[in-house]
Amino acid sequence: MSVAIERIGFDVERIRADFPILAERVHGRKLVFLDSAASAQKPRAVIDAMVRTMETRYANVHRGLHWMSERCSDDYEGARDKVAAFLNAAREEIVFVRNATEAINLVAHSYGRTVLQPGDAVVVSEMEHHANLVPWQMLRDSHGIELRIAKITEAGELDFHDLERNFADGRVRLLAITHMSNVLGTYTPVERLAAFAHAYGARILLDGAQAAVHRAVDVRAIDADFYVFSGHKLYGPSGIGVLYGKRELLEAMPPFLGGGDMIRSVSYEKSSWAEPPYRFEAGTPAIIETIGLGAAIDYVNAIGFEAIAAHERSLTDHALAVLSDIDGLHVLGRAQDRGGVVAFTLDGVHAHDVATLLDKQGIAVRAGHHCAEPLTRRLGQDSTARASFGVYTTHGEIDALVSGLRRVKQVFG
Ligand SMILES: *Cc1c(COP(=O)(O)O)cnc(C)c1O
Repeated sequence: MSVAIERIGFDVERIRADFPILAERVHGRKLVFLDSAASAQKPRAVIDAMVRTMETRYANVHRGLHWMSERCSDDYEGARDKVAAFLNAAREEIVFVRNATEAINLVAHSYGRTVLQPGDAVVVSEMEHHANLVPWQMLRDSHGIELRIAKITEAGELDFHDLERNFADGRVRLLAITHMSNVLGTYTPVERLAAFAHAYGARILLDGAQAAVHRAVDVRAIDADFYVFSGHKLYGPSGIGVLYGKRELLEAMPPFLGGGDMIRSVSYEKSSWAEPPYRFEAGTPAIIETIGLGAAIDYVNAIGFEAIAAHERSLTDHALAVLSDIDGLHVLGRAQDRGGVVAFTLDGVHAHDVATLLDKQGIAVRAGHHCAEPLTRRLGQDSTARASFGVYTTHGEIDALVSGLRRVKQVFG
């Protein structure tokens, strides 16, 4: 472990002890879990918060006047305060949804069908997850917007010249772009992008599904208009995600789903909407999962993003160094600013065989197009293997991956 990390006092073994699943054995071996970018494992604190809710204070929220409902509503709304502080937003700007995907769909449906007009353009990049591509294609097909794709460079960074070309005719109203690529690991320069979009009179939506796990996010400092992430990648449960939207934008947006909890008043003729964020939270929410997300935020805050980022930087540097020693292994992307995901190909071995043979050795990586099929093809591949790192990943696990890959090569020798 590097000196810098020791100085911050990051003890990965202590962190690992917080995650019960890491003690499990797979195929008789210690689990080497290198697939956190798909979904992260959960610390005891998150599991306990969810169990405690169900065992001691569970009821529907915002409805009952009884003790259980009030206690549970306090915990649920307390999680909103935690998310607001986590992003440096106001609590009215935090909408709970199922995941990052639903958050982007909400913006595409609500903002996309009212503020955006047929003929307006939306720009995404070549390195988007399907979650930040397909909703805009659907909006194009139903509402007549134009969808433009901004190119990336050979290094896997955003190509600003191409971005400028896309904005040149003044028709772009929204830039929807990842904060960190789940394939290339590339961080995008979000403050610069926000200033860029605003200079053209466009808004910016940032897909933070990866970035929010690895770095502190300040939506005000970035000047983001929308920011989305998922609980399950941030060591929280699945089924809960977040849409941040600037207050004035959310206030002008119509509901996405109709039903209970999102109305001010309802008659048979007409209904009026509650204020944000409740306008966008129809029906009984994911109560237990939201409280679990609050616990996950407490957990990462207690470690601190400075320590998390330093640990992951050290892991990524180590992985890039040792993987490049393997003959015929090619890492995708070489962005200057990159996070803890490393996608690669191995000459002569299909990515699915790489993953299957690693799995037999107890090593979990992902293989496929990683929900970024156009990007994978743009990079000249049909599939790649991907190792991704989290707070609990060790340098030893990366060495185990390298040994595992050497064995894969022997099999295919
Ligand atoms: C995982 C991921 C998503 C989608 O997250 P869901 O939780 O599946 O909605 C979107 N964008 C990126 C960059 C991701 O990694």
